[in-house]
Amino acid sequence: MYDPLVNSHPNNQPFAPSYWATTQALGAATAPLSGRQHTDVAIIGGGYTGLLTAYYLASEFNIDCHVLEANQVGFGASARNAGFVLKGSGRLGYAA
Ligand SMILES: Cc1cc2nc3c(=O)[nH]c(=O)nc-3n(C[C@H](O)[C@H](O)[C@H](O)COP(=O)(O)OP(=O)(O)OC[C@H]3O[C@@H](n4cnc5c(N)ncnc54)[C@H](O)[C@@H]3O)c2cc1C
Repeated sequence: MYDPLVNSHPNNQPFAPSYWATTQALGAATAPLSGRQHTDVAIIGGGYTGLLTAYYLASEFNIDCHVLEANQVGFGASARNAGFVLKGSGRLGYAA
């Protein structure tokens, strides 16, 4: 099971058997980038952080941005979220 504190990269890792992954039809992975590409903002990671950043940059500021996802959109913690409203927690301290 992928753990960002243990595994070096999310590429080719299986989805966690989350509610999301077992109830939604997941889209097919897109082809890797090739050649030279241009964008004003390249966002690494298609979780809540990356997708909302892209959404607001595009919708509020009309900025050309692209999300680069190593696995599939929703692969990471965002698709495993339990839905509780938390003020911030984690296994790493704030300094880390
Ligand atoms: C089981 C579980 C339950 C949770 N429950 C709650 C909850 O109830 N309430 C709450 O507030 N929070 C909860 N959280 C925490 C919350 O889900 C995360 O803080 C949040 O989803 C993080 O979003 P993110 O977009 O920053 O990261 P992620 O959703 O992890 O997205 C990061 C993305 O980046 C991609 N990526 C990583 N490296 C690269 C790379 N080199 N190149 C391209 N792509 C890359 C990954 O594949 C992944 O898709 C939970 C987390 C887990 C794991």
